[in-house]
Amino acid sequence: MHIRSALATAFAVCALAATAATGVAAADAQALSPYDVQNPAVGNLDPQLLAAVQQAASAAGAAGITMTITSGWRSPEFQQQLLDDAVATYGSVAAALAYVQTPQRSRHVQGRAVDIGGAGADQWLIAHGAPFGLCQIYANELWHFELATDNAGNCPALLPNAT
Ligand SMILES: [Zn+2]
Repeated sequence: MHIRSALATAFAVCALAATAATGVAAADAQALSPYDVQNPAVGNLDPQLLAAVQQAASAAGAAGITMTITSGWRSPEFQQQLLDDAVATYGSVAAALAYVQTPQRSRHVQGRAVDIGGAGADQWLIAHGAPFGLCQIYANELWHFELATDNAGNCPALLPNAT
Protein backbone atom coordinates (compact mmCIF):
# COMPACT_ATOMS: atom_id res chain seq x y z
CA MET A 1 0.00 0.00 0.00
CA HIS A 2 2.84 2.34 0.76
CA ILE A 3 4.34 1.93 -2.68
CA ARG A 4 0.96 2.32 -4.29
CA SER A 5 0.13 5.56 -2.51
CA ALA A 6 3.59 6.92 -3.25
CA LEU A 7 3.14 6.05 -6.89
CA ALA A 8 -0.31 7.60 -7.00
CA THR A 9 1.16 10.76 -5.57
CA ALA A 10 3.92 10.69 -8.16
CA PHE A 11 1.35 10.26 -10.91
CA ALA A 12 -0.78 13.09 -9.57
CA VAL A 13 2.22 15.38 -9.53
CA CYS A 14 3.44 14.42 -12.96
CA ALA A 15 -0.06 14.61 -14.41
CA LEU A 16 -0.02 18.28 -13.56
CA ALA A 17 3.48 18.63 -14.96
CA ALA A 18 2.53 16.88 -18.16
CA THR A 19 -0.47 19.13 -18.61
CA ALA A 20 1.69 22.18 -18.20
CA ALA A 21 4.46 20.85 -20.41
CA THR A 22 2.46 19.46 -23.29
CA GLY A 23 -0.94 21.07 -23.06
CA VAL A 24 -2.46 17.60 -23.22
CA ALA A 25 -4.95 16.80 -20.52
CA ALA A 26 -3.59 13.95 -18.43
CA ALA A 27 -5.77 11.11 -17.27
CA ASP A 28 -3.59 9.70 -14.54
CA ALA A 29 -4.95 9.87 -11.02
CA GLN A 30 -8.34 10.87 -12.36
CA ALA A 31 -11.56 8.94 -11.95
CA LEU A 32 -12.90 8.56 -15.46
CA SER A 33 -16.07 6.73 -16.31
CA PRO A 34 -15.50 3.81 -18.71
CA TYR A 35 -18.17 5.48 -20.83
CA ASP A 36 -16.37 8.85 -21.06
CA VAL A 37 -15.22 8.14 -24.61
CA GLN A 38 -14.81 11.86 -25.32
CA ASN A 39 -11.69 11.70 -23.15
CA PRO A 40 -8.83 10.29 -25.25
CA ALA A 41 -7.63 8.24 -22.26
CA VAL A 42 -10.86 6.27 -22.64
CA GLY A 43 -11.83 6.82 -26.26
CA ASN A 44 -8.43 5.79 -27.64
CA LEU A 45 -8.45 2.43 -25.88
CA ASP A 46 -8.54 -0.70 -27.98
CA PRO A 47 -12.27 -1.23 -28.69
CA GLN A 48 -12.24 -4.79 -27.37
CA LEU A 49 -10.57 -3.71 -24.14
CA LEU A 50 -12.94 -0.78 -23.71
CA ALA A 51 -15.98 -3.00 -24.22
CA ALA A 52 -14.66 -5.49 -21.67
CA VAL A 53 -14.05 -2.76 -19.09
CA GLN A 54 -17.52 -1.33 -19.67
CA GLN A 55 -19.10 -4.75 -19.17
CA ALA A 56 -17.03 -5.42 -16.08
CA ALA A 57 -17.90 -1.99 -14.67
CA SER A 58 -21.56 -2.74 -15.16
CA ALA A 59 -21.25 -6.06 -13.33
CA ALA A 60 -19.23 -4.44 -10.56
CA GLY A 61 -21.88 -1.74 -10.27
CA ALA A 62 -24.51 -4.42 -9.75
CA ALA A 63 -22.35 -5.63 -6.86
CA GLY A 64 -22.26 -2.13 -5.40
CA ILE A 65 -18.75 -1.25 -6.58
CA THR A 66 -18.01 1.84 -8.65
CA MET A 67 -15.26 1.09 -11.15
CA THR A 68 -13.36 3.97 -12.71
CA ILE A 69 -10.39 4.32 -15.04
CA THR A 70 -7.51 6.24 -13.48
CA SER A 71 -5.34 5.84 -16.58
CA GLY A 72 -6.04 4.32 -19.96
CA TRP A 73 -4.52 5.34 -23.27
CA ARG A 74 -1.47 7.58 -22.93
CA SER A 75 0.36 9.57 -25.57
CA PRO A 76 4.03 8.60 -26.03
CA GLU A 77 4.99 12.03 -24.71
CA PHE A 78 2.96 11.54 -21.54
CA GLN A 79 4.39 8.05 -21.01
CA GLN A 80 7.90 9.50 -21.29
CA GLN A 81 6.97 12.16 -18.74
CA LEU A 82 5.73 9.46 -16.35
CA LEU A 83 8.97 7.53 -16.83
CA ASP A 84 11.10 10.62 -16.29
CA ASP A 85 9.22 11.39 -13.11
CA ALA A 86 9.51 7.78 -11.94
CA VAL A 87 13.28 7.95 -12.47
CA ALA A 88 13.33 11.04 -10.27
CA THR A 89 11.20 9.28 -7.66
CA TYR A 90 12.97 5.91 -7.60
CA GLY A 91 16.50 7.09 -8.30
CA SER A 92 17.39 5.10 -11.39
CA VAL A 93 16.01 4.01 -14.73
CA ALA A 94 16.25 0.38 -13.65
CA ALA A 95 14.16 1.01 -10.53
CA ALA A 96 11.67 3.16 -12.40
CA LEU A 97 11.09 0.49 -15.06
CA ALA A 98 9.56 -1.77 -12.40
CA TYR A 99 6.64 0.67 -12.37
CA VAL A 100 6.60 2.59 -15.63
CA GLN A 101 7.39 1.29 -19.09
CA THR A 102 9.08 3.13 -21.91
CA PRO A 103 6.77 4.67 -24.54
CA GLN A 104 7.96 1.98 -26.95
CA ARG A 105 6.86 -0.86 -24.69
CA SER A 106 3.95 0.58 -22.72
CA ARG A 107 0.66 -1.20 -23.23
CA HIS A 108 -1.03 2.06 -22.22
CA VAL A 109 0.45 3.85 -25.25
CA GLN A 110 -0.88 0.99 -27.38
CA GLY A 111 -4.33 1.45 -25.84
CA ARG A 112 -4.18 -2.08 -24.47
CA ALA A 113 -4.04 -1.45 -20.71
CA VAL A 114 -6.19 0.26 -18.11
CA ASP A 115 -5.54 1.25 -14.53
CA ILE A 116 -8.64 0.74 -12.43
CA GLY A 117 -9.82 2.93 -9.58
CA GLY A 118 -12.74 3.04 -7.20
CA ALA A 119 -12.89 1.56 -3.70
CA GLY A 120 -12.52 -2.21 -3.93
CA ALA A 121 -12.73 -2.19 -7.72
CA ASP A 122 -9.26 -3.61 -8.31
CA GLN A 123 -9.85 -6.49 -5.90
CA TRP A 124 -13.24 -7.13 -7.49
CA LEU A 125 -11.71 -7.23 -10.95
CA ILE A 126 -8.88 -9.52 -9.85
CA ALA A 127 -11.54 -11.95 -8.57
CA HIS A 128 -14.11 -11.51 -11.35
CA GLY A 129 -12.26 -10.13 -14.40
CA ALA A 130 -11.42 -13.35 -16.22
CA PRO A 131 -14.94 -13.92 -17.64
CA PHE A 132 -14.51 -10.50 -19.29
CA GLY A 133 -11.01 -11.38 -20.48
CA LEU A 134 -9.47 -8.94 -18.00
CA CYS A 135 -6.40 -9.96 -16.04
CA GLN A 136 -4.06 -8.43 -13.50
CA ILE A 137 -0.63 -8.68 -15.17
CA TYR A 138 1.92 -7.49 -12.62
CA ALA A 139 2.08 -8.60 -8.99
CA ASN A 140 3.12 -5.10 -7.93
CA GLU A 141 0.30 -3.33 -9.81
CA LEU A 142 -3.06 -4.41 -8.40
CA TRP A 143 -4.76 -1.73 -10.52
CA HIS A 144 -3.34 -2.54 -13.98
CA PHE A 145 -5.41 -4.80 -16.26
CA GLU A 146 -5.14 -6.06 -19.81
CA LEU A 147 -7.07 -8.48 -22.02
CA ALA A 148 -4.96 -11.56 -21.47
CA THR A 149 -7.05 -14.69 -20.92
CA ASP A 150 -6.11 -17.82 -22.84
CA ASN A 151 -8.49 -19.92 -24.92
CA ALA A 152 -9.74 -21.63 -21.76
CA GLY A 153 -10.55 -18.26 -20.20
CA ASN A 154 -7.75 -18.31 -17.66
CA CYS A 155 -5.44 -15.43 -16.79
CA PRO A 156 -1.68 -15.98 -17.09
CA ALA A 157 0.60 -16.27 -14.08
CA LEU A 158 1.48 -12.89 -12.62
CA LEU A 159 4.73 -11.25 -13.62
CA PRO A 160 6.58 -9.78 -10.63
CA ASN A 161 6.68 -6.31 -12.20
CA ALA A 162 6.83 -4.48 -15.52
CA THR A 163 10.52 -5.08 -16.24
ZN1 LIG B 1 -1.12 0.47 -15.95
